[in-house]
Amino acid sequence: MTKVICEAKVIAQKFLAPDVKLIEVKAPEIASQGQPGQFVNVEVSRQAAPLLRRPLGLAVVNKEAGTCSMIYRIIGEGTHLLADTCVGATLSIIGPLGHGFDLNAKRPLVVGGGLGLAPLLNLVTSLAVPVDILIGGRTKAEVFWTELFREHVRNVYVTTDDGSCGTQGNVNALLPQLLAEGEYDCVYVCGPVPMMKAVAQVVEQAGLPCQVSLEKYMACGLGACLSCTCGGIGKRLKVCTDGPVFWSKEVAEW
Ligand SMILES: Cc1cc2nc3c(=O)[nH]c(=O)nc-3n(C[C@H](O)[C@H](O)[C@H](O)COP(=O)(O)OP(=O)(O)OC[C@H]3O[C@@H](n4cnc5c(N)ncnc54)[C@H](O)[C@@H]3O)c2cc1C
Repeated sequence: MTKVICEAKVIAQKFLAPDVKLIEVKAPEIASQGQPGQFVNVEVSRQAAPLLRRPLGLAVVNKEAGTCSMIYRIIGEGTHLLADTCVGATLSIIGPLGHGFDLNAKRPLVVGGGLGLAPLLNLVTSLAVPVDILIGGRTKAEVFWTELFREHVRNVYVTTDDGSCGTQGNVNALLPQLLAEGEYDCVYVCGPVPMMKAVAQVVEQAGLPCQVSLEKYMACGLGACLSCTCGGIGKRLKVCTDGPVFWSKEVAEW
């Protein structure tokens, strides 16, 4: 797979929630190769600062149209600049980067929370078998994702911390029951680290394989700067090139 640096024209930008946007860019060389779980590194400004590109997961890839969409939360300087980028402008983007999901599951359960659901959208549209998804959030407003996923999956299960939508509690309030009844053969998870860790523990105890997509601060995204390493079993792992997707049993230090 060839990494490409390209000038990608912004085709669309829209709000999905008050602080979450989807940006669609024309990037045929990235779209033709991008796999679920991979990411792009986006230059958010033509000025000297901020210097570092911002990594964003591929949320939608349309190979025919040659477009990629990323879904991002506006939290700091870089994502505010990205949110202000107008349709018609160009962005320098490097991708596709990293090692994505293994797609060989026959009976997959996908578990996501927060912006971890962005790369999972690309995953569920790429799996060639019926998919169930478990979406967790603090409130009903945070699980707006259900509408994005519904048409691509068989069952959508929802938990909210405050009980305003679906089952009350975090995803682990429902996960053991789903694992007991669903005959799943693999669980895919992306979300906040405490959630991924807790989900992986339950899935491993159930004797099933679990794929996790880690998010670490990173600079180059190419495996050179080593800023995103984490502890694996007997070796350091580079999240940007060995991951961001790992089998949960490979990860010793989250
Ligand atoms: C492989 C990968 C894929 C990602 N995919 C997505 C995605 O699809 N959608 C999305 O919204 N975000 C994603 N992120 C996180 C995203 O890169 C950061 O939110 C973004 O870089 C923040 O930039 P900023 O300049 O707005 O914020 P900054 O000013 O850099 O940071 C603002 C705050 O955000 C937090 N933060 C920033 N970066 C990270 C990070 N990498 N991990 C944890 N906390 C962070 C910090 O607590 C900081 O206080 C991904 C990160 C990685 C490593």
